Amino acid sequence: MVQSHAQARTTRTPSPERWQKAAQRAITEGIEVRQVNASGMWVANSGTAAGVAYMLEITGEIVHTCTCPAGTFGDPCCKHAARFYLDAGILEVDEPKPGPASRTSCFRCNGIGTIEEFGRGWNVIDVRSCPVCTGTGELPAIPLHDHPTPATVAA
Ligand SMILES: [Zn+2]
Ligand SMILES: [Zn+2]
Repeated sequence: MVQSHAQARTTRTPSPERWQKAAQRAITEGIEVRQVNASGMWVANSGTAAGVAYMLEITGEIVHTCTCPAGTFGDPCCKHAARFYLDAGILEVDEPKPGPASRTSCFRCNGIGTIEEFGRGWNVIDVRSCPVCTGTGELPAIPLHDHPTPATVAA
C-alpha cells in the first residue's frame, strides 16, 4: 500500500495577510467590480491600465477565476477578487489613513511605485520602477502648472 493522498492542489495559498494587501491595493487603485446586467458576468477595471477590464467567474460569494495577470497565473489573491469580497462584506480592511500632511500620490503609478508594462493580449511583460516618482509612489511637493499664468494677455 502506497500512501499518495497528498495532492498539491495549489502552490499559492491565500492567507489573511495576502488578502489584506490585495484589498488595500484594490482600494488605493480604485478597483471596481461590477456585474453585467444582461449576462450575469462580473467585470473589474484594471488599476494600472486605463480602459482595460478583467472578467471574473463568481458563483455565490466565491471568486473562482479572474482574467487579470495575477489570476491568470493561478493566484487567488488578486485585487479584483479582493474588491468583490470587500463589496460583499466578506473581507474587511483597515483603510490606509493618509498622513496629516496631504501627500501627493504619483499620477503615473497611483502611488504604488511600480508600473506594469503590457504586451499583446494584456500580458504583463515587465514590472519596473515608476519613472515619474522613481519608485517612491509620491511626488515632490512642486506645484504643477499645466498652463502658463495668463499675465501677458492684453485686456
Ligand atoms: Zn484579478
Ligand atoms: Zn510613480
